[in-house]
Amino acid sequence: MQAYILGIDIGTGSTKAVAISLTGEALGTVSEHYPINSPEPGYSEQDPKLIWDAFVKCLSGITAKLGAPQAVGLSSAMHSIIPVNDAGDALYPMITWADARSENIAQALRATEKGASLYHNCGTAIHPMSPLSKLLWLKDNESEIFNAAHKFISIKEYIWFKLFGVFEVDYSIASATGMFDIVAKQWSNEALDLIGIPASKLSQPVNTTYYRANVNQSVVLTTGIATQTPFVAGASDGACANLGSHTTGEGIAALTIGTSGAVRITHSKPFYNYEAMVFNYLLDEQTFVCGGAVNNGGIALNWLLKNFLKKENPGSADYNALFAEIAAVPAGSEGLIFLPYLYGERAPLWDTKTSGTFFNVKPAHTRSHFLRAGLEGICFALNDVLKTLEDASGEITQVNISGGFTSSAVWTQVLADITGKKLAVLQSEDSSAMGAIYLAARVIHPQSYEQLTKVEHQQIIQPSENNHAVYSRMFPVFKKLYADLKDTMHLVDGWE
Ligand code: ADP
Repeated sequence: MQAYILGIDIGTGSTKAVAISLTGEALGTVSEHYPINSPEPGYSEQDPKLIWDAFVKCLSGITAKLGAPQAVGLSSAMHSIIPVNDAGDALYPMITWADARSENIAQALRATEKGASLYHNCGTAIHPMSPLSKLLWLKDNESEIFNAAHKFISIKEYIWFKLFGVFEVDYSIASATGMFDIVAKQWSNEALDLIGIPASKLSQPVNTTYYRANVNQSVVLTTGIATQTPFVAGASDGACANLGSHTTGEGIAALTIGTSGAVRITHSKPFYNYEAMVFNYLLDEQTFVCGGAVNNGGIALNWLLKNFLKKENPGSADYNALFAEIAAVPAGSEGLIFLPYLYGERAPLWDTKTSGTFFNVKPAHTRSHFLRAGLEGICFALNDVLKTLEDASGEITQVNISGGFTSSAVWTQVLADITGKKLAVLQSEDSSAMGAIYLAARVIHPQSYEQLTKVEHQQIIQPSENNHAVYSRMFPVFKKLYADLKDTMHLVDGWE
């Protein structure tokens, strides 16, 4: 059988295992889904046991076809928290990144000097997604669980404990907790003091290329993995995605639009911007992944499809019809501008009370103009994050794109024209799983690293100069509109 490395990405909706040969050939993919529960408005919880079961099924599914891998690299979603006992069993449901129960705590902290100091120390936005806010909530609202917990861990540490019986966390996942000093690479005393816990309540931090073998015998028996197979700790899904999509050089950014969206660059030092709360997560000891995530990606486009075209669960024919209609309208939608903040906004506004707005509506505007302006608004908002990063890091000349929106040539061209940047679409498997494979290869198979990580094929999308000129005139107006309307939006918050 062919020698291969396995990358496993433990995502929010599913876990996905991707097998790649030492020469970079895709050998197989297995994925397993699990539910997200919302027992109360704003809550987002999962059962970590179900995620472990999915992880085991993914491992077994691959080894049944390909035998044991040379190494396994791990990637996982950020910001989850699980209070556990000393046997690694959950004492409470896992709270996911999307959970908003600590909104008031985060908002109050953000307005203080302590909030700014914590951001500068730990690199994570002061936001309900952050485990820091979640632990403050647990302390106030579930004090018995909070006091009884042996440790507070993420889903990656939960799985690592089941594999090896130790509590260890990679620098990358630790750096997204809001409790980790990203420069000293140790738990932040400032954060621990605020929560009122000692560092022993958290796992031992390790580098992202740290590995262990001698996996638990029960895992060997159930999954077909070899006892000696090294498991590399790996990084978070966002950091792995930068590595997996070859976005680690200077002047290059990664931009994803799926349900939500994000822009990320890598750099040797963090970029601090408290107003935009640029995140600084570690990829490895020397590399920071800096960027911002937006709420209103594909989810805002789907709102347009539902309400203007009556498509509730759009399939590819519906997307094709939508983009054909959009393509018939000139760039700039003849002056119609859309602020896409239907679901509030994270970077760079950090405003849960903002909302969507169509501006400058004229009699000549038709449904198609509203659709095109809607799409342009989503891209302007991502351009806003890109520009914030560019201001801090220096000129960005290439943007590597990924996510569901890359299926549309119209959408990707609008993004190229708005940003004025060359876009590259990489033909690869899941980029987070690929990043985990690359981290594993770096330490276990350095001799194969170059061949394995070679970029085989990339499709390039060049911006149109004319359209970019139109959008360059509109972008400052887009920004000013939000600034002008912000207070009025807040006045009507909750009127729906
Ligand atoms: P996630 O992993 O965040 O759930 P995906 O990366 O799968 O999301 O992207 C989903 C989004 O991609 C949809 O919300 C939609 O906006 C967009 N999308 C899906 N299919 C198409 C298509 N055929 N053409 C254009 N956009 C599409």
